[in-house]
Amino acid sequence: LESLDVERLREDFPILERELDGKPLVYLDNAATTQTADPVVDAMSDYYRRYNANVHRGIHHLSQEASIAYEEAHDRVAEFVGASGGREEMIFTKNTTESENLVAYAWGMRELGPGDEVVLTEMEHHASLVTWQQIAERTGADCTYIQIDETGRLDMDHARECITDDTAMVSAVHVSNTLGTVNPVSELVDIAHDHDALAFIDGAQAVPNRPVDVEAIDADFYAFSGHKMAGPTGIGCLYGKAHLLEEMEPYLYGGGMIRKVTFEESTWGDVPWKFEPGTPPIAEAVGLHAAVDYLEEIGMDRIRDHEEELAEYAYERLAAEGDIEIYGPEPGPDRSGLVGFNLESVHAHDLASIMNDHAVAIRAGDHCTQPLHDRLGVAASARASFYLYNTREEVDALVDAIDSARQLFA
Ligand code: PMP
Repeated sequence: LESLDVERLREDFPILERELDGKPLVYLDNAATTQTADPVVDAMSDYYRRYNANVHRGIHHLSQEASIAYEEAHDRVAEFVGASGGREEMIFTKNTTESENLVAYAWGMRELGPGDEVVLTEMEHHASLVTWQQIAERTGADCTYIQIDETGRLDMDHARECITDDTAMVSAVHVSNTLGTVNPVSELVDIAHDHDALAFIDGAQAVPNRPVDVEAIDADFYAFSGHKMAGPTGIGCLYGKAHLLEEMEPYLYGGGMIRKVTFEESTWGDVPWKFEPGTPPIAEAVGLHAAVDYLEEIGMDRIRDHEEELAEYAYERLAAEGDIEIYGPEPGPDRSGLVGFNLESVHAHDLASIMNDHAVAIRAGDHCTQPLHDRLGVAASARASFYLYNTREEVDALVDAIDSARQLFA
């Protein structure tokens, strides 16, 4: 594959030209949120300037245009992740977290009961872990967790022990936002299906960075966020198999999601609208459509290769230091473009703060995976995460900034 013309791509992200205190910004917090591509901002601005109106097919011209754009965005995003059902399999939410909650409430509250098990992994983000914990508590179901091994991969033997005929739902993260592990999700889905359980895959860290085909994975539900894929905040996605979404009851109610309402009762509109009550994120959907066009034109396999190359370079440079503990698998096909680590002598928060003095933006904390950090035996970790516009020079800047931190604390 031809590598990315990063210098050219960086022109699409003017924020990257910023200098902080005279130092060029080095943005390595992409797992939290990526920068927004100019074509995305342009598409949203065009919507607000030319055809801003509420959707649900008002009679007037602007509403027609906005409705068509909003509906087509569903089809385009569905196509991007390999969902052949188009809009009938693609619900727009606020973010991955809301997508998780939608399934947990709409499906879980009705389907789960005492004796049922929800199987998660030890590397779940709080978005799924806390949500399923709560639903389990309310329904009398139990949560169990597939362990990770010492390399930061899932213990698949343990997965086969955890997933049984009592399992109703397997909820697993596709790519860990803390370890960078790329999980064998289609294998997990197969095990779930062997036991007549459903599988929910959290793809928040996968869809932005690699080709994803929800049908090849055979996931029943698959969630991701616009703001982690060069798109806008305020929009998330939930893919679901058409027959499941058809059968599911909504959990949020209001306008735009109904078919017929009387003083006594109401019936629901078609999927996805029955899960999208109220005025939806219209400009954001237009922006996400543009983001998907943008990413696809670059090529998801090239984006993946670029990020993996950077992560491997970062991994090697950090591993060579001797006083840095790196979490997750060694570079390879089951490791994504982020590196979580700790410097022996410096707390992750202090490290991030000193990096900030060098205009290097990384994240420090528990990354919404507190139980995983307990498992790793640390309270916090530092994380550098890469995207299509990052360079090897920025990895060097990261290592230099770590060096200054080490000297400061020596
Ligand atoms: N799951 C994973 C793996 C994530 O990395 C994140 C974002 N940190 C989320 C879920 C939640 O995404 P959002 O904040 O967009 O809901």
